[in-house]
Amino acid sequence: MITFESLKHGPDGLVPAVVQDSETLQVVMVGYMNAEALAATYTKRQVTFYSRSRDKLWTKGETSGNTLALVSIEADCDMDTLLVKARPAGPTCHEGTPSCFGREGASGVGFLAALDQLIDRRRGGDPQGSYTARLLHGSLVKAAQKVGEEGVETALAAVAESDEAFLNEASDLLYHVLVLARHKGLSLTQILTVLESRHQ
Ligand code: AMP
Ligand code: ZN
Ligand code: ZN
Ligand code: ZN
Repeated sequence: MITFESLKHGPDGLVPAVVQDSETLQVVMVGYMNAEALAATYTKRQVTFYSRSRDKLWTKGETSGNTLALVSIEADCDMDTLLVKARPAGPTCHEGTPSCFGREGASGVGFLAALDQLIDRRRGGDPQGSYTARLLHGSLVKAAQKVGEEGVETALAAVAESDEAFLNEASDLLYHVLVLARHKGLSLTQILTVLESRHQ
């Protein structure tokens, strides 16, 4: 736990807090915390700022419902900025986008985590309208077979087809691995934990 006393704050008693989506690692917003905001963030487990414009504590999402569930807080090298990791309940920007920076959602490797979350949401979806929901509601064997097929297609494309064909098959394979994991109640984060543990 970070204590506010250990931080270097400005004369206004505030430190900037950069908030990152804990799974996609996208920076979603920046706010300011004072000692009370930091304490409230820990006790409520919801990211809470000090609003300079309204001159009061502000738990993000208190009116919109788009809260930020606390995952972790760390300070930077010289203890004057906080990095907060959180799970957003909805779009963090009040303009309706996932992040206040850029209009896009997660991209690059972070998109894989966003895709994994989308797949998880499809568990409650209509199998009629969604291929993912159909796979998730179908048998585990069927979902496992799809991974087998796409694995073989990826391998064949790598040696006998164009780069474009390979990239398409590899995309199918990654998607179906995520679906299979979710079918088993497991997540990309758990797969990444195994990969990361091999490098310690
Ligand atoms: P919320 O905290 O989401 O319930 O939103 C309450 C108010 O806080 C909004 O009407 C905005 O004025 C402001 N607000 C919410 N989210 C942000 C944000 N990401 N950046 C700046 N202001 C925000
Ligand atoms: Zn610093
Ligand atoms: Zn915004
Ligand atoms: Zn394929």
